[in-house]
Amino acid sequence: MDSKMVKTRFAPSPTGFLHVGGARTALFNWLFARKHGGQFVLRIEDTDQVRSTAESAAGILADLQWLGLDWDCGPQPGTTKNEYFQSMRLELYNGYLEQLVKDGRAYEAYETPQQLATMRLAAEKMKRPFRYRRNMPGRAEPGSGPTVLRFEMPFETITFHDLILGDISVGGDEHDDIIIRKSDGFPTYHFAVVVDDHDMGITHVLRAQEHLMNTPKHLGLYKALGWQPPAHAHMPLVFNMDNTKMSKRDKTKAARAAAAAWVKQGNNSDTLSEKTGIPPNQLKEFLDKKADDSRIAAAIGAALNVALPEIDVQDFRRSGYLSDALLNFIALIGWSPGENREILTRDEMLQLFSLETIGKTSGRFDRKKLLWMNGEYIRQRSINDLQRDLAAFNAVTDYPLKQATETQQRELLAMYQERTGTLADMAENSRFFFEEPTLDAAAYKKHIESGNGWTALRQIRDMLTAVTDWSREPLAPVIEKIIELGEKRGAAPQTLRVAVCGGPVSPPLLETLCLLGRETTLARIDRILGLQRPTSGT
Ligand code: GLU
Repeated sequence: MDSKMVKTRFAPSPTGFLHVGGARTALFNWLFARKHGGQFVLRIEDTDQVRSTAESAAGILADLQWLGLDWDCGPQPGTTKNEYFQSMRLELYNGYLEQLVKDGRAYEAYETPQQLATMRLAAEKMKRPFRYRRNMPGRAEPGSGPTVLRFEMPFETITFHDLILGDISVGGDEHDDIIIRKSDGFPTYHFAVVVDDHDMGITHVLRAQEHLMNTPKHLGLYKALGWQPPAHAHMPLVFNMDNTKMSKRDKTKAARAAAAAWVKQGNNSDTLSEKTGIPPNQLKEFLDKKADDSRIAAAIGAALNVALPEIDVQDFRRSGYLSDALLNFIALIGWSPGENREILTRDEMLQLFSLETIGKTSGRFDRKKLLWMNGEYIRQRSINDLQRDLAAFNAVTDYPLKQATETQQRELLAMYQERTGTLADMAENSRFFFEEPTLDAAAYKKHIESGNGWTALRQIRDMLTAVTDWSREPLAPVIEKIIELGEKRGAAPQTLRVAVCGGPVSPPLLETLCLLGRETTLARIDRILGLQRPTSGT
């Protein structure tokens, strides 16, 4: 490594949520910068005026903060745009665009999208890839379409050394003259990325392999502008277990399937618009596969109560994955720290991380492994840490668990720590602490209506009513007695459990009753006793 301070960047386009693949790119850039005592820059690439939104940018910042990936330079969360938003840097880009025009390296072009499509088709017919070149015949005359600026790529082979993939070469006849300024006056990604990486002093560009073929174009620009390019490293893509690329389409596909199944059950698709709050025309476009909007997918999932596959960082957060577990898991997609290491702290990641240990081929996103890892993290964590995780989870979800006081949170976390894979599972399974449980019909039949159920429940009620000091010590011996109650040891506790929790599964009864409190416990037992039909009891 040369003496120049390492500076990496993560440069998301704010056109949607932060995808786990993007989070992995951010993590590797963060690790590389931190490992080398350098700086990590966050830059918002919002040159696409139509698709970029402030909401998306804010969401990306929030997700990075949740993951604990702090940046040294970049947007200030909660404030207005600053110079780390490309849309605030037009003056800078315009200066360099002018320079290229003056140097004869950039030129105007006037094709309409239709003309370009026709040219592409003609090339395809001749089994040639379409490459726009300044010297090609048939270029449009000024005024025939919107004016863009194109960069004249040299007809020379461009070779660079990718720090992960090795030497990459693209022949002179494989280039095309890319657009560098759009008709709306904004620079394209290709141009802005080069200007900014240079202007911000980025030394290493680490990004996903889908950008690999952009790099020769960028190198052409560096050369034309007389700048030294940064080093490049392209990271493997993130794939699903079935070898398809993990993309937001997985979510929209699942939402469409859920909507189709719902309509097939005889429901009217107009009602879906009401249920989701999505205007009918937008919904139709989505269902007809004309638009792939994650927001619409999420609205359908919520309205129909269907879980969609988690793709974006916030999906995993809402599903109750801990940020450290998710970060650990995504670090291992395409990177192997060696010695079969799996659970790694941030410090260990920093110690072991190097570009040489990143793979060349795509990594797999194994959801089962992530769930396992999350459970491991939950079990190994202190209650204090878990409480922080829970606060972050509660901030983006709306389970009744939100009502828990700090003390109740700690008690619940201690109870569920050994028996939950995610915080969402815990939130789901602990609902009965905060709201009247819905009675599991099969459990009710088995543990209350049959055998000694009613008798046992009445006895239990009397035993518990006698406990006035409702805390661990006085309750423990009573629970012991309940275990012994009746002919079949252990039957009565299940009767009690179903009565107070609604179903046959809960954390240990002693802790459960303590947390529920005397009043709620007795009221729930009474409610169940009130269900007894006169004929069914003694
Ligand atoms: N804005 C680009 C993206 O989100 C950044 C690519 C790059 O790192 O150069 O894909």
